[in-house]
Amino acid sequence: MKSIQEQDPKIFELLEKETRRQNTNLELIASENFVSRAVLQANGSNLTNKYAEGYPGKRYYGGCEWADVIEDIARDRAKELFGADWVNVQPHSGATANAAVYLALMKPGDTLLGFDLSHGGHLTHGSPVNFSGIYFKPEFYGVEKETGRLDYNKIRDKAKAVKPKMISIGASAYSRDYDYEAFRSIADEVGALLWMDMAHTAGLIATKLLNDPLPHAHVVTTTTHKTLRGPRGGMILVGKDGENNLGVVAPKSGRTKNWSEVLDSAVFPGTQGGPLMHIIAAKAVAYGEALEDSFKEYQIQVQKNAKALAAKFVELGYDIVSGGTDNHLILIDLRNKGVTGKIAEEALGKAAITVNKNMVPFDTESPFVTSGIRIGAPAMTTRGLQEAEFEYIAFLIDKVIQNSGNEDIHKQVEGEVNDLCERFPLYDFVTA
Ligand SMILES: *Cc1c(COP(=O)(O)O)cnc(C)c1O
Repeated sequence: MKSIQEQDPKIFELLEKETRRQNTNLELIASENFVSRAVLQANGSNLTNKYAEGYPGKRYYGGCEWADVIEDIARDRAKELFGADWVNVQPHSGATANAAVYLALMKPGDTLLGFDLSHGGHLTHGSPVNFSGIYFKPEFYGVEKETGRLDYNKIRDKAKAVKPKMISIGASAYSRDYDYEAFRSIADEVGALLWMDMAHTAGLIATKLLNDPLPHAHVVTTTTHKTLRGPRGGMILVGKDGENNLGVVAPKSGRTKNWSEVLDSAVFPGTQGGPLMHIIAAKAVAYGEALEDSFKEYQIQVQKNAKALAAKFVELGYDIVSGGTDNHLILIDLRNKGVTGKIAEEALGKAAITVNKNMVPFDTESPFVTSGIRIGAPAMTTRGLQEAEFEYIAFLIDKVIQNSGNEDIHKQVEGEVNDLCERFPLYDFVTA
């Protein structure tokens, strides 16, 4: 058989260019990471050929003997990693994991109380352009203007006023930890279900560097490719006391089903067809890596690096939303620097620094312009950068932002970025 190089030189060349881009740019997008070679290999394996609709031991296709063992290993490792009673490793992405939660636990028209999208929440938590905002009735809680943090008394008042069927937690641009006990007591008080979407922070939660939602939330979803550093995908989990603390009545039989049955059928056949077995194999490899001591050391460094970045930016006169960070990311409000998020993102891109523009709470610009940028530490920490390098990164970003129209400075910083990246090599191969 031909290699990709022989079969498709055009795509091969573009993959090579992408490898070069990943090697030579500062990757600071908070939702991205670099997987290991082992995860890449499983991801690119021949399991992409296999149909395995159903679950281990109950498949709709033959030839699933090895797929079964692999999915069981992925599930067992995920349970061990998060102290979960039950997991489903089949969701193709964070968004499809969330779709399954909605299908299992909400009816069209039910009210969801979620984290305000313009304060850092995710579009699958009630955006008008997403199914979650189209089929359900979204209500939002947000951060306080003065503190940039959640006020649980206000969330309680809001929940009492709107009586949601479900309360969701989780955001893509919130740098602080959550009080899950407070959330659960609010949910219990108004008779709502509690769902935590830990897409961004799963790696920090697995290593106990952030509060653990599993003992408090009825259901937890995550992506597997952000701080968890696995392949692109999703997962649903239920904590140890979650299994029996609420019965769910099946519409036809009237029989009370348990959570695991209802959630499993919401993934398949509810919202997906065949699972991506090559991705599930890569999830198993990534969970295995996450159970090693070195993963905890990595997450500790992620947190240290994000804190070092925040402190340096404060020193340089930047306005960090909430004043700092508990996790892997910071959100900078650029309004006192006289540039928009769009301008900053573009100028930084020219200097080989990849960040994303981001709305800040109470933003006065549109989502296409924004007043902020979001910066994350996970990817460059995987490459081995520590606090000193992250302080240097803050200095480089400041140089570009202070000179957002000066192409000479952008070129100069690009050179400094390339030198830094060279000191911390990433991949020395194009494909797995
Ligand atoms: C990233 C993210 C998702 C979506 O994950 P995809 O894999 O991109 O579908 C969902 N919720 C939150 C909070 C996220 O940050």
